[in-house]
Amino acid sequence: MLAILALAWVSSGTAWGLIEARGESSPVLRAVFGLNILFHPATFFVVWRRLLPMRVVDMACLLFAAGLCAICMALRLYVPALGGEIDIQPLYLWIPVIYVFAFTLTGHRSSLRLSLAIMALFVAISLPYLLQRPVAPHANFTFQLHMVSAILIAALHFFSSYQHRLQAAQLTVDELAHLANTDTLTGLANRRRVNEVIASELLRARRCGHAFSVILVDIDHFKGVNDRHGHAVGDAVLAALASRAKETLRDVDMLGRWGGEEFIVVLPETDFAQALDKAHALCAHVACRPLAGGHSVSVSCGVTSVQPGDSADALLQRADRALYAAKDRGRSRAEGAACAEPPPSLSPAAPASAAPAPRSAGRPSGPPA
Ligand code: GH3
Ligand code: MG
Ligand code: MG
Repeated sequence: MLAILALAWVSSGTAWGLIEARGESSPVLRAVFGLNILFHPATFFVVWRRLLPMRVVDMACLLFAAGLCAICMALRLYVPALGGEIDIQPLYLWIPVIYVFAFTLTGHRSSLRLSLAIMALFVAISLPYLLQRPVAPHANFTFQLHMVSAILIAALHFFSSYQHRLQAAQLTVDELAHLANTDTLTGLANRRRVNEVIASELLRARRCGHAFSVILVDIDHFKGVNDRHGHAVGDAVLAALASRAKETLRDVDMLGRWGGEEFIVVLPETDFAQALDKAHALCAHVACRPLAGGHSVSVSCGVTSVQPGDSADALLQRADRALYAAKDRGRSRAEGAACAEPPPSLSPAAPASAAPAPRSAGRPSGPPA
């Protein structure tokens, strides 16, 4: 905006200078250029010092340009003694620019109203002239100005409506994408989104050898919370736990709801030892004090890191086995599965050679935490 104003000021000054040098000036032209020369630096100062909101400045520029053109048109058509030096062709070239400017400033519908109001002003000014002197020197040109203005406004309105509809459609697409990727209860990424992130991390790991880890998090004895306090309280605990868990994570880490009372953390650029530390910290942070709402819960975590040749299924099965081990060893703790083999120290209740336990179904149950 500052650059446009500076440019407008320089070009007005240059045009004025040339007209004066050619001896074609008049008091009216001096007044018009004088107004321009004052208006542009004043507006420049207002914009530079942010004295007014930009919308007000934009509207003031538009009304200034429209008002100046309207005065020049009236003088040229009705008061030749004063407006005779005003060149009607450049004046009429600038009027369509005002409509384009109007369509960049305001909303879709108000642009149309504003442009039509400005056009009505020009039509009203020229109508008596056109009716009384239909074959006068500027009548045809003025009539064509109005025709071109009407067509231009119609075209601008068409493009503006198209853009408006496109923006509305884009909003809907964004909302749908958000809904498709978000768990409504906790506001976290849902399983679908987490799967996407894991797939892209696996790709990065294959291509560039980046490390990443995942932590499966399962609330201990959550069924008891539901049984004692009801499902609604259970829901509130899930949401509160999501907030608590996020406190221990970095911005780049992703916490998602894996399903039911299970969560998952994807830790980019994190090796196994770091992930295990993070999981220990997560368990401690959840158990250290009651959640918002006053309910105390603990979580168990299963940790694993990407291995060469890993698939998403293999990675998640390792994390699940580690979580199984954490449940088996007393809950409110983290266990890791660093490699493809099951952790060797699994208890007999969870045989090391067993296929991954069914999700949330075969984990050992112990006393309430
Ligand atoms: P464990 O320590 O072995 O994990 O015991 P648990 O009771 O947490 O495990 P289990 O898988 O037996 O129970 C999970 C419960 O989570 C069962 C189900 O009612 C509850 N649950 C799952 N999804 C929701 C939910 O969206 N809201 C509520 N309130 N409860 C849920
Ligand atoms: Mg559980
Ligand atoms: Mg579970």
